[in-house]
Order: sequence, then structure tokens, then C-alpha cells
Amino acid sequence: MTITAKHQILIVGGGTAGITVAARLLRGGHSDVAVIEPSNAHYYQAMWTLVGAGRAEAASTERSEASVMPKKAVWIKNAVAAFDPDNNVVECADGARYEYDVLVVSPGIQLDWDATAGLTDALGQGGVSSNYSFELAPKTWEFIQNTRSGTAVFMMPANPIKCAGAPQKIAYLAADHWRKAGVLKDIDIHLVVPTPRIFGIPAIADNLDKVIADYGITLHTESEITEVDAASRKVTVTAMGASGTGGSLPYDVLHAVPRQSAPDWIKSSPLSTGDALGYVDVDKHTHQHVRYPNIFALGDAGSTPNSKTGAAIRKQAPVVVQNIGALLAGRELPGRYNGYASCPLVTSQREMLLAEFNYDLELEPSFPVLDPVKPHRAYWYLKRYGLPFMYWNLMLKGLA
Ligand SMILES: Cc1cc2nc3c(=O)[nH]c(=O)nc-3n(C[C@H](O)[C@H](O)[C@H](O)COP(=O)(O)OP(=O)(O)OC[C@H]3O[C@@H](n4cnc5c(N)ncnc54)[C@H](O)[C@@H]3O)c2cc1C
Repeated sequence: MTITAKHQILIVGGGTAGITVAARLLRGGHSDVAVIEPSNAHYYQAMWTLVGAGRAEAASTERSEASVMPKKAVWIKNAVAAFDPDNNVVECADGARYEYDVLVVSPGIQLDWDATAGLTDALGQGGVSSNYSFELAPKTWEFIQNTRSGTAVFMMPANPIKCAGAPQKIAYLAADHWRKAGVLKDIDIHLVVPTPRIFGIPAIADNLDKVIADYGITLHTESEITEVDAASRKVTVTAMGASGTGGSLPYDVLHAVPRQSAPDWIKSSPLSTGDALGYVDVDKHTHQHVRYPNIFALGDAGSTPNSKTGAAIRKQAPVVVQNIGALLAGRELPGRYNGYASCPLVTSQREMLLAEFNYDLELEPSFPVLDPVKPHRAYWYLKRYGLPFMYWNLMLKGLA
């Protein structure tokens, strides 16, 4: 079979992970780095929560892919469709085939809107929106603003999703808006989550329970919304565990979050874990594939059991780059990722709780001077201004 081109290091996906790794590799002296990325646009998705709450413009979260692609990287504007890891080749949708010495797989996560019955058809109208889409996030704000009374439902699906905090953050931001507008008492707010508590770390869950009580939100634990009936504006809630409540809820506004999994073409590939979610099967510390040593994966598409966030990628990327260098030099892989992730839990339009933790759910605060289990005013400014600056100017340039 014809090979279109060969590159020493080939990266699949030019999102948060792919661009960060490419920039770090080039800074580290690697010269033949190519990124396969089909999209003309790159997004700072972490800001979509604030777009949905009317605190940021959608346009500020989008830049051209060309502007974030490192100058010395080769951009292959194509979409990968299949892997042939025994021959060190990836195949693109148009049949082009690229060979590599080392492959980095980072094409992000798949939003399975259809896994919740009725959701796809309901989106974007009748009060149903989602911050998980660039196009829909502004609609979330429109629907929140238009709601002056009735029932508001916020949902989090089962299984890992990117930014597991996003489904609850928008509930707090909406409630804070309704409080300021003087209508909070007229809105019955429900937050439906699949977990036994609102957060996996008890000290943080205790403080979030206080936030939830303060807004008068009804929390449904171990429950999942499994159907959206747009015609009668109702959702079906299915109990998932002992504390779960089944039944149905009416809604005037619904913030929907889709179930998520690896892209289908990863699931059906030899790189997959082979289970239903199908992520790229890598070692959780080295990011090296468990069967193909010259393949690495990081970010949302990897099987590492961390919280899927850009913050996690900031710590994963240097590990992957260090280990690629070692592999090419024929050395043992020295880099170890400890599962660090951070979840910026915006609790109002003034405050944020910055949850930072590792695989063992031990707290790893970057600013230990601030109590890491409580919301703080300073963190709001970090989220609104500091982190976006860091993302565009430091992380994507391989400097942080
Ligand atoms: C609403 C929301 C709020 C969030 N909040 C936060 C937050 O507060 N803090 C935080 O740290 N993280 C947050 N995140 C999560 C963060 O944005 C993701 O974890 C991160 O972007 C994942 O990076 P990635 O490179 O794995 O995937 P992406 O950044 O999604 O990039 C994947 C890239 O792969 C490309 N691609 C897709 N298919 C193919 C293909 N076939 N071939 C080649 N390329 C392909 C895509 O075009 C894309 O450019 C949030 C996400 C959302 C949606």
C-alpha cells in the first residue's frame, strides 16, 4: 500500500492535548512532528460554562487552528479513520496513509447525544440546551434569562465525561442569576447526578451540599435522566443505586449533558480497551499503550482513570514528551503521571472552589494558602481571566 508521508512523531488530534504535546516536543528539540487535525477551529472549551451563564462571549473561546499550531509542526488537515499499529501506519478518511516511528493519539471524546432517548431532537429549543456544544452554550444563557418561574433541571449522565464538574457548575451559576433577578423563590431547581454524593471527596462534597442547600436546589443522587420528552416537557429519571429516585420531572429549562465515550473509530480499532467505552488502552502512569510500545495516548481519548480535564492534560503532556524522548533513545520510560486533575467548581458569579486531586483522591492544591475545600473570590478571577490567559499563551505554546 502506498504511504502518503512519513513523520518521526505523528499526533492524532490538534486539540488541547495534541497542540500542547506538539509544542513541547518541538521545544525539546524534536524536529519531525506532524499533527493530523481536520478542523479549522480550536476551542477553549473550559470557558463554555461561563458562556452558558452569560459571563463570557462564545467568540472569545474560538481561535483558528492555524493560530495555535506550532510553527515548526506539519499540519495534516485530514481526519484519521483507522489504525494499522503492526505496520506503524494510520489511515485517514480520504484513504491517505501516514507512517510514524512514534504515534500520539489525542482526538478527544465523543458526545453520545443519542444515548439519552429524545435528547437530540429536543436540543436548542423549548428550553433545552447544553454547554457541551459551542453552538448551544449561548442558548443556555438565553433560556436561563428567559426563565422567571417554573422548574429547572440540570443533569449529569452516567460514565466518565469531560469536566465532570460542568453539569453542576451551570446549576449554581443559573441559581445565582435567578437570585439576583429576584425570582429564585419561584423556580424549583433539580440537579440529577449518577454518583452517591455531589463530589467524590467528602470534605468538598460537604461544602457543595451547603451551596446546594443555600440555593434551595433538590439534589437527586444515584439517578440518571434517561429520556427527554420535548413535546410534554418532561424527563424520565432512572434510579441507579440505593439513594436513587426514579420517576419523572417536568421542566421549563433543561441543561443537558450527553453520555460520552471514545470516538467510534477508536472503539473498533486495535488500540481500544475493548470495553463499551473503548478508550485507547494505555498505562495510567506512563501513557504508553499496553500492547504497542511506540504508541501513546493522553487527554479525553485515553483510558487513564483521571478526571478528564484540560488541567489533567497540562500534567500529562510533559510526561508523554519525556517518555517519547526516552523511547527514541532506547531508554526506560522515566515519566510518571499521578492522576492530577483540577475541577474549577464555580459556585456563584463571584466565587469558585478549586478542587485539585490525584488518582488517590488526595488533595494537591496549587495555592495551599487558600483552603482547598472551600469557595474563594480569588479563584473566580483565576477562572475568568487567569486560566484562559494561561491556556492560550503558555500551555498551548508548551510553556506551562
Ligand atoms: C462545558 C465544558 C467545560 C469544561 N470545563 C473545564 C474546566 O473548567 N477545566 C478543565 O481543565 N477542563 C474543562 N473541560 C474539559 C477540557 O476542555 C477537555 O478535557 C480537553 O479539551 C480535552 O482535550 P483533548 O485534546 O483530549 O480533546 P479536544 O480538546 O476536544 O481535542 C480533540 C481534537 O481532535 C480532533 N479530532 C477529532 N476527530 C479526529 C479525527 N478523526 N482525526 C484527527 N483529529 C480528530 C478534534 O477536531 C479536536 O481538535 C471542559 C469541557 C467542556 C465541554
